[in-house]
Amino acid sequence: MITRTAMTTEHRPSHHPETGALVDYAAGTASQAAGVMIASHLALCPACRGEVGRLEALGGAMLEELPPTPLASAGIDALLARLDKLDAERPSFAPERQPVAASIVIPRPLRDYLGDMDVGGDLTALPWRKLGGGVDEIEIPQATGRGEHLRLLRIKAGSAVPRHTHDGNEMVMVLTGGFTDASGHYLRGDVGVSDADIDHTPVADAGADCICLSFTDAPLRFTGPLGWLLNRLVRF
Ligand SMILES: [Zn+2]
Repeated sequence: MITRTAMTTEHRPSHHPETGALVDYAAGTASQAAGVMIASHLALCPACRGEVGRLEALGGAMLEELPPTPLASAGIDALLARLDKLDAERPSFAPERQPVAASIVIPRPLRDYLGDMDVGGDLTALPWRKLGGGVDEIEIPQATGRGEHLRLLRIKAGSAVPRHTHDGNEMVMVLTGGFTDASGHYLRGDVGVSDADIDHTPVADAGADCICLSFTDAPLRFTGPLGWLLNRLVRF
């Protein structure tokens, strides 16, 4: 008997952000850059959408169990004003609740941040800047700050990103194509998480360029044979 397979060919991610990053997101304490990264992953990952939903429900239940604290009315006004301000400042990532069709390369939460660069999903028309070694980048200035950077990376098919480590944390999510490093094979929606202990050389799959969304909270340090030179030339 032939069973009908699902209409969608969307890849279900098998590499996810760390739980701590999902908790920060659910609690509303993620930075702008990390928030865009997580929201974009949620748009592509049913498992993490479920997890964040559970975390939010848990947070709500904990708030309800807190004993009511009597506040002087001046205190209440100040508190409400502060909450209003927080609400206004907090980026809204509501659209991630809608799973995206496999044909849409850039998930909505990220698209909202591309601003003038958004060219209707045509990634080749974006203002790519050469980093060298078959790697191009685009900084997303709207989401960058406090030492954090959000970038699109394009790794030419079959090329390697020079071996590097990180002073801080890195999350890299595949949008198109795929790459492999010592920790595994990454396809659309998969998030590679690295920190200072990981020294890696991601290699893009042959056949198609790999475009990724990259979040870093500190500069990369290149460690390969020409690392000293790259560290001078490439301000990543
Ligand atoms: Zn996930």
